[in-house]
Amino acid sequence: MKGVPRRALVIWLVELLIFLPVYGGGVRHARTPTPPPRAAAQERSLRGYLDMSYVDLFQQAPSLHFTPAQFEQQKKSLEKGEEQCVNRFKDQAKQYEKQIEALQKELKVKGAALSETERREIHCKIQNLDLLRSEASVLANHAIPTAYDNLQAKLELIQKWPAAYQQIQQELASGAYTTRRWGDVKDIGYRVIAKDQQDDIKTGQQAVQEMRRTGLLPPPVKNKAIQDYVNSVAQKVARHSDLKVPLHVEVLDSREINAFALPGGYLFVERGLLEAADNESELAGVLAHEIAHDAARHGHKLMKRATIASIFFQAAQIAAILLTGGVAGIGTYYALQYGFYGLGLVLNLQLLGVSREYELQADQLGAQYAWNAGYDPAGFIKFFDKMATQKGYVNGVSWFRTHPPFYQRMVDSEREITFLPKKPEMVVQTSAFEQMKKELQPVTKAAEQEAAEKPSLMVSKAEGCQPPPLIEYKPGQPIEDLCATPMRTAPGLKPNHK
Ligand SMILES: [Zn+2]
Repeated sequence: MKGVPRRALVIWLVELLIFLPVYGGGVRHARTPTPPPRAAAQERSLRGYLDMSYVDLFQQAPSLHFTPAQFEQQKKSLEKGEEQCVNRFKDQAKQYEKQIEALQKELKVKGAALSETERREIHCKIQNLDLLRSEASVLANHAIPTAYDNLQAKLELIQKWPAAYQQIQQELASGAYTTRRWGDVKDIGYRVIAKDQQDDIKTGQQAVQEMRRTGLLPPPVKNKAIQDYVNSVAQKVARHSDLKVPLHVEVLDSREINAFALPGGYLFVERGLLEAADNESELAGVLAHEIAHDAARHGHKLMKRATIASIFFQAAQIAAILLTGGVAGIGTYYALQYGFYGLGLVLNLQLLGVSREYELQADQLGAQYAWNAGYDPAGFIKFFDKMATQKGYVNGVSWFRTHPPFYQRMVDSEREITFLPKKPEMVVQTSAFEQMKKELQPVTKAAEQEAAEKPSLMVSKAEGCQPPPLIEYKPGQPIEDLCATPMRTAPGLKPNHK
């Protein structure tokens, strides 16, 4: 894989495999507080506005009048905050590493002189320090940068949206919007977005096979009604898109909030996404975005000369380490499922066609496909906003890795939605979606029950070893709170354990 040192990736993958779940799967949270009335609006600090949702900020921004100096100061302050926070957790990871090394040395030096209990106590400490180290490392490398990216995107939105809005209105009034890239929305399905889509089918098939072989792919949800429903929504969107290859859809039994399309029409939807979606237009919006990646052949364009084998080489190595390293019999997918960072962190972004440029393209085409299929095209942006504001940067790290947050995508999405011809009835909710949610409840419940029983198998190699509670994140909590979390110590054996 280009640009990622192999060793680093391997270590990083291993880290992912030893996480405990800490956050409830399908927990719903109240909507973010509504913004204050306009008269009082300006009294809020600029930082205060950054905790609002994107949708609210689109509305509020034109009435806010911060000075360029204030924007600059806030931007610098965020940059500094991110740097300090990242360094703090990187430093913690190093300290845990040192503690692990010290204990390993102790094992070596004392050797046979250790009693069985003493030895188990050290094993337990090492195991728990490793958990804490990997948590700190994933926070430093993924969750914290994502949180700050989101804040920077919102800051830019407050600053730039009023002018962008004016421009959009002018383009609408003059009719100039019809000449935008892919403005020929009446010809969806008959125009050319990318030639030779069928050439990607083999790549996709190979990737799916490789994922199954390495245990990366969670098992499908064993509920035909759910599979059929998601398939019908996806096929409906595909029929109204520029996709020319058959679409294969599978709902995976994973708590992760994500969906991804492998090249050539292989669409995977994780159970967590269905739990997090509140209506059919949100689901359709996410599926349309993924279908757009395939229609535009983004994976093919980014992969260039990389082969599936080279992409999955690291994953295969990890599976081998795992299956021979003391957790025999437990598939990699369990580890990924119970690690709350999920599959989206492991998947190769080139394979998925994720880059800033291609995200903008998939946002635009996705909005068009959802709209063409009869849905409210704002579904995707609303779902994105929910992830950014309510679900949060820690729980949604996997989502944000495959759907990176930045200002341009929010504005461009809003622009495209404004330019799409209005339809008298745009579908937001359906009874079929509500029925699917009912079907989903027992599936979620069973999965959570299983999750509550399984982690001990995976994590507790050392018998009676109490794992540390991971850092708790509450939706809507400012990132600064998480950055201030004091360093924790690793717990040892349960006191009553014999
Ligand atoms: Zn994307």
